Amino acid sequence: MDYISTRGNAPALNFEGATLAGLASDGGLYVPRSWPSFTKAEIAEMAGLPYAQLAQRIMLPFVADSLSAERLLELTTAAYGRFAHAAVTPLKQFDSQQWLLELFHGPTLAFKDVALQMLGLLFEEFLSRPNADGTTRNLTIVGATSGDTGSAAIDAVAGRAGVDIFMLHPKGRVSDVQRRQMTTVLAPNVHNIAIDGSFDDAQAMVKRMFNDTAMTSRFNIGAVNSINWARLMAQVVYYFAAALQLGAPHRPVAFSVPTGNFGDVFAGYVAAKMGLPIERLIVATNVNDILHRALANGDYSAGTVTPTAAPSMDIQVSSNFERLLFDLNGRDGVAMAAQMAGFESTKAMALTNAQREGAAGLFSSARADAGEMAQAIRWAYDASGELIDPHTAIGLHAARAAGIDASVPVVTLATAHPAKFPDAVERATGHRPLLPARVGDLFDREERCAELPGDYDAVAAYVAARATPKA
Ligand SMILES: *Cc1c(COP(=O)(O)O)cnc(C)c1O
Repeated sequence: MDYISTRGNAPALNFEGATLAGLASDGGLYVPRSWPSFTKAEIAEMAGLPYAQLAQRIMLPFVADSLSAERLLELTTAAYGRFAHAAVTPLKQFDSQQWLLELFHGPTLAFKDVALQMLGLLFEEFLSRPNADGTTRNLTIVGATSGDTGSAAIDAVAGRAGVDIFMLHPKGRVSDVQRRQMTTVLAPNVHNIAIDGSFDDAQAMVKRMFNDTAMTSRFNIGAVNSINWARLMAQVVYYFAAALQLGAPHRPVAFSVPTGNFGDVFAGYVAAKMGLPIERLIVATNVNDILHRALANGDYSAGTVTPTAAPSMDIQVSSNFERLLFDLNGRDGVAMAAQMAGFESTKAMALTNAQREGAAGLFSSARADAGEMAQAIRWAYDASGELIDPHTAIGLHAARAAGIDASVPVVTLATAHPAKFPDAVERATGHRPLLPARVGDLFDREERCAELPGDYDAVAAYVAARATPKA
């Protein structure tokens, strides 16, 4: 499989190249040249496979020219062996229609671990292969986090050879648990940076660095944000895992996805393209509802970010939406580049008819405010005794409001462990969720973090002074 840019003006790369590159050189995002698909019989045969084997089956068509089937299974076994639940992503039932897919049993308590544990191993694998001239490879990862990507990425690469990681987070806008999960990792290849500004400001700086030749000529800059295709590929697996348990491929399943950067729900779109019978993908947003407006009436226009109790969804610009728009518009890279240039200059764009109609066939959307979020946390607790986190609660609110036919199971993706956001959970239920033992003495450990102004040049200079130049 090779990978092409959504903006049509970057070289096609194989899986290894797309994984190490992250963003394409024309500013676009890499997508597979075509969608591999499974027959109904092939999907039926996957029922009951252990998670690591299912992951190997789903990922193999995407990686085939870069990894053998045997090596891929070794990597999926290592990545998912670190999860605290034997099922890796267990399903729980609320009532006759509503289900919860728990994606937070990894080391840093959010669904990001499912993808990043795999990505850390892929980086190590590919960087261990020497360049054609025999020199060793290294990678400077630069990322922005609204909270959970940062800790999951840092856990996945801390101490690994060949990789330095620089992680930007918006100062004061991530929870204490989220911040400490990043800043207490003292491995010398880990660099945390708190910037004055929002997540979108941090993400814009990261994107700018990828297109800054003064930086890219000196350093191999790589991405761990969900602009990296390998992350989305790994996330496709749990859609299959959940649907197979609920009767797929013989019965369709709907999913409700707490959405920020549109990575997780795009993985659901990929699962549908690969043949999984998905009745509907419900895009759940908080009051930062650009995606809800885009899907409901074609208006993709960024406002200002309102901080909420679900900070990983406090996003106005959803990078991965471009992958969907590209696919729905006949994969026309020239048109996509023009559409995105318009968005970048005016912060607004209208979806084309093909994009609106294509999206409407599979996606619906809903928005939850603070009261609806708290109500969903209480409903889950009353229905089953489960404490759910604020992001998951927004998904559950949308799932229950979506009006899906009663014969179709609706699975809400539980994207974070409730103990990551204990205050909101306690306010809604009167019960304070406890951190699982596997995170250890998080609140007693030393923190290390630089603070920088919301200024690109300051961040670039900080990275340049500490990163390992290209060989
Ligand atoms: C990252 C994150 C999201 C949003 O996922 P996207 O792939 O960016 O849409 C939702 N919930 C939690 C807890 C997250 O960490």
